[in-house]
Amino acid sequence: MLDPIRIVLVETSHPGNIGAVARAMKNMCLSRLYLVRPKVFPSAEASARASGADDLLATAVQCDDLPQALRDCRLVVGASARLRAVHWPQFDPRACAAQVLSEAREGPVALVFGRESSGLSNDELALCHYLVHIPSNPDYSSLNLAMAVQVISYELNMATRQRPASPDQEGAMQPADSLAMERFHRHLAQALVEVGFSDPKQQEKLLLRLRRLFARARPEQDELNILHGILSACQGRKSMRRP
Ligand code: SAH
Repeated sequence: MLDPIRIVLVETSHPGNIGAVARAMKNMCLSRLYLVRPKVFPSAEASARASGADDLLATAVQCDDLPQALRDCRLVVGASARLRAVHWPQFDPRACAAQVLSEAREGPVALVFGRESSGLSNDELALCHYLVHIPSNPDYSSLNLAMAVQVISYELNMATRQRPASPDQEGAMQPADSLAMERFHRHLAQALVEVGFSDPKQQEKLLLRLRRLFARARPEQDELNILHGILSACQGRKSMRRP
């Protein structure tokens, strides 16, 4: 049930934290660890802190960037210690676990955790459908990375115990994966400039708001194809171009 769920760590600085994350995951029956540009890996310190969960380190997938780690995911949730300038749909860990588990029945799902020093960048958060925030002291809200993974993983494990065996998924929607969404956002950005709607130098905020809109809508691939077609028509092209 938890197998399609991956934990993605972005640019982790301390190898000990990677080991502690592997341990937290294995305790809670999660097994898929993705590492985006870890500072030091593999490492003896990571193995020591994994304390018997080094099988997760051995099978960890290393990626050059976050989109690569997310490319086949239907749902992406970013874990954030802080509230952000642009308000993104946000869960607490329990609601997050229910949603993640329900979608994991249909395909890969990612939970993304940021750097120890600075968390996730706005560009990285923009790749997420939702944020999850662990309720904490508003004046001291940043948990250690592995402890944040522990809390989220615990809720996932608990949620597996509360789920009905096989809820009716007939007719459930099939949102496009992350790779398809990124292709669409590139096309949208290009079309908005080409039709004179926005200035390429000043459209960052607009694109973020549009990302939030589409993250809420969770379009299916068929719907994205229609949107690509509309954009291409606005651009005055007969055939669809995939930028
Ligand atoms: N100093 C960073 C926090 C880094 S903690 C900042 O201010 O953003 C490392 C990572 O652990 C964060 O990027 C986030 O993914 C996770 N994390 C820490 N505290 C969290 C919290 N209260 N809720 C959700 N995720 C949290």
